[in-house]
Amino acid sequence: MRNARFSALFGLALLACDQGAPAPAPSASASAVSSAAAKPSGAKTPPPEAIDAARDGARRLTGEILVAGQATKTLTELTDFAGPRLTGSDVHARAAGWAAERFRSYGVDATLEPFTLDHTWVRGEARAKMVAPREQVLRVAAIGWTPGTPAEGVRGEVVKVDDLSPDAVAKRTDLKGKIAFYDAAAGRKAGWTAHPPYRLAQAGAAAVVIHWARPFNALFGTACKGPKEAACSVPVFVMGSEDGAVVARLADAGPVTLDLASTASVGGPAQVPNVVAEIRGGEAADEMVVVGAHLDSWDLATGAQDNGSGSAQVLEAARAIRALGTPPRRTIRFVLWAGEEEGLLGSRAYVKAHAAELDRVVAYLNTDLGAGAPVGWDADGRDDLVDAMKPVAKSLLAGLGADVVHAKIRCDTDHCPFWLEGIPTLNLDVDASAYEDIHHLASDTVDKVKDHPLADGAAAVAVTAWAIAQLPERIAPRIGHAAIGKHLKGADVLPMLIESGMWKP
Ligand SMILES: [Zn+2]
Repeated sequence: MRNARFSALFGLALLACDQGAPAPAPSASASAVSSAAAKPSGAKTPPPEAIDAARDGARRLTGEILVAGQATKTLTELTDFAGPRLTGSDVHARAAGWAAERFRSYGVDATLEPFTLDHTWVRGEARAKMVAPREQVLRVAAIGWTPGTPAEGVRGEVVKVDDLSPDAVAKRTDLKGKIAFYDAAAGRKAGWTAHPPYRLAQAGAAAVVIHWARPFNALFGTACKGPKEAACSVPVFVMGSEDGAVVARLADAGPVTLDLASTASVGGPAQVPNVVAEIRGGEAADEMVVVGAHLDSWDLATGAQDNGSGSAQVLEAARAIRALGTPPRRTIRFVLWAGEEEGLLGSRAYVKAHAAELDRVVAYLNTDLGAGAPVGWDADGRDDLVDAMKPVAKSLLAGLGADVVHAKIRCDTDHCPFWLEGIPTLNLDVDASAYEDIHHLASDTVDKVKDHPLADGAAAVAVTAWAIAQLPERIAPRIGHAAIGKHLKGADVLPMLIESGMWKP
């Protein structure tokens, strides 16, 4: 699970490739929150009778999803039939239109809310061949938002780089015209702000190969990482585990020469859609619970668990809540984000565009950790939210095995822009023990998803959204900039949040 989270964090840090996407100013509206709400622990535990009042709805939602559910059918349509949903691609746009239609088919209003993606990217074809000391075809994929090679490719000697700290890379004089080769683990060890491909290109490398050690030569989908616009100016490739290990061993023994070719290309700006759907509330319709998951995926597979599963759960929650026939007390809004994999672009754009109504968002629920059995909710450092949620979870989610509530700060997916605005956020926590086997890999396909835990997760999302929408009081207050800063103090995500412009201390 820790690895899954680290990879997700790494994915978020890859913000160079959003190449100038507008960063929200989290402090602006959060600081407008009243000083009373600026206390980090202002939540009151909901009274038992308030939780009891949500029980009938919870029982019917669980029955609707577990007995008459469509989660697997929806996921299969989204993955096998729609396909890999790279942000800015035609497939993603079609999938967004399909999802909006699906919401409408449940009787839930849905619209597409476009935002500007500064650059599109087309993967094209990538190939690699070792030509010395012997010949071997090697498995590679281009890294997202990196350019292709010249038509004739790039031929160069491999130079292994173990120390990827910025100082060490800057001192190297042996990279000019060469193919820099490093292990992804060494890249992570160098820290958030190291940006190895960017600095290796600055040092003269003609191309970069990242040995991304995942089993059976599976290739990892990710975006280039750098501190500023167009940071990754040379072709960058991932190489599979076994092929990369061969290259590494031979390079230790003597010169290794590779031929690399890629037809990847970075394009101009495009409008890409978030899908926004809503079930209008009853007596407290002005307040809302927002439930979200990212619809976009990496394109080496169909993104069944990252994040077709979360998308199917959000759709299923909307279907079941609508099927109750009674409006929730508060409005429930459902959003399927674009651009998560390129740096939370869709949720950041939404928070910016909807800044004026964020005071009315009582909670944001997110599901993006795969299709494992649900365990409960992560409240990202908000102990007051943990305390308030515990009796709700014990009472309504224990039967789904989803009653653990904890407060580890992650800020690694689409809840983060909401969290940085002081809104109470909950991330669905699941058994992620098998997640790394498929995460961002060509093997992330629907056959790895089991019906029952997928549906249990959908039920946990639906029941929690319903319960929070029904409570007489907000589950927890919106907190101000100073209180958020207190939570972030010492958090390992802080350098990344500052560098990406998501957090201004
Ligand atoms: Zn994801």
